Amino acid sequence: MSQNEALFNELSALDKKHIIHPSTNPKLHSEIGPKLIFESGEGIYLKDMKGKTYIDGVSMLWNVNVGHGVKELAEAAYEQMEKAAYTTTFYGYSNEASVRLAEKIAQVTPGDLNAIFYTSGGSESNDTAFKLSRSYWDIKGKKDKKLIISLRRGYHGVTIATQRATGIDAYREFSGSGDPNIVNAKPHLTECELGDKSHPEYEGSIRSIIEREGADKVAAVIVEPIQGAGGVHVPPEGYLKAVRALCDEYNIHMIADEIICGFGRTGKMFGVDHWDVVPDFICAAKGMTSGYVQLGGVIMREEIRDTFFTYDGMLPHGFTYSGHPTACAVGLKNLEILERDGLIENAAAMGEELQKGLNYLEDKYSFVGNTRSRGLLAGFDLMEDPAAGKPFETIKAAATVVEEAYKRELLIRPFDFTPGMNIVAIAPPLIVQKDEVEKIITIVDDALGA
Ligand code: PLP
Repeated sequence: MSQNEALFNELSALDKKHIIHPSTNPKLHSEIGPKLIFESGEGIYLKDMKGKTYIDGVSMLWNVNVGHGVKELAEAAYEQMEKAAYTTTFYGYSNEASVRLAEKIAQVTPGDLNAIFYTSGGSESNDTAFKLSRSYWDIKGKKDKKLIISLRRGYHGVTIATQRATGIDAYREFSGSGDPNIVNAKPHLTECELGDKSHPEYEGSIRSIIEREGADKVAAVIVEPIQGAGGVHVPPEGYLKAVRALCDEYNIHMIADEIICGFGRTGKMFGVDHWDVVPDFICAAKGMTSGYVQLGGVIMREEIRDTFFTYDGMLPHGFTYSGHPTACAVGLKNLEILERDGLIENAAAMGEELQKGLNYLEDKYSFVGNTRSRGLLAGFDLMEDPAAGKPFETIKAAATVVEEAYKRELLIRPFDFTPGMNIVAIAPPLIVQKDEVEKIITIVDDALGA
């Protein structure tokens, strides 16, 4: 046994004993242990402890936008840590990195989304947006506006509030914790299913909830500009604008969950930029630091900020790591790299290459359908007959294809949490080059063939 194998076995045994992994089958994990133990990364590649090199075809959790092993980000963290790794932003204290990053984010967000409430990640961001929205309406004397409307197949996180906003039943129902009474609100799901329905029908289903409940009970509608974990669903043209118009009509906040889309993933800085929509809140995390450190934020319009400026008392919300100086220093450097190296433009251009490859696969394989992408956020369906919308009844097609890709050292992601659902997602880091996109498509081609 090599030294590496011995180390792998040791860590695997310890992992099995001491860690419960997120979004993983605990029974299976306790039996077989970790599939991979990563050692290092460079660009779109990750090396594991057993010496194999994988293409990270999903940027881990759609977050490693600038790719792995970027020394400048490590240096930004180091420099800040040497000065003061952590200082709080409670008690009216501040730090330069959080201020500079807030200013920079104000410059790159659409419209007048010019103020931020910092968090440590995506669920915290959405949770905070729900609270800020409800609290805003409280300040305005509309104390009954508590309801949050979200979409089926949306993924918004796993806190007790955001799990209810998440429109994927397993997450939504887990542990029976998502008690709407906790925050005195009852998040709803629209009945809309994605497919070839036109946008008025989608809008109608949000509208029907508003009309049923009464606009005076609704605080906000939350949508991902492009749904990610629900299976990569690009909305029909006009959909987000229709949601914006509906929110304006009924005096309801529009929250854009940009946790995957934000910071260049879709070939524009934010997902809403594809449709020129200015939401009231943008929730961010993931690509904000390319995942190098934990950071998130809720970015809001000036009118909302100014409303909070009339709140004369201690705002009872905030996290120990809100405005964490090291995280913000990395966030600032990450944005600098995205812009300096033209990575958002690269995501748009390489996204087109990726879609070309997916079109080729769709032509080649009768069971590949609905290939779709925006920038480097892509997905496709595996179905017995995509044209007829006939799913595979029994075959775990997505998991099988992803496993075949894994054997060929490409990491991609299956989505199959409802019966008949077989979706594969591809989302490489934004630095990916044309020959690497071709390599990804070649491996997916081989995996589909297998
Ligand atoms: N919102 C979206 C769109 C996400 O994809 C995720 C995570 O995948 C979240 C929210 C939750 O973020 P986190 O896992 O950082 O809490």
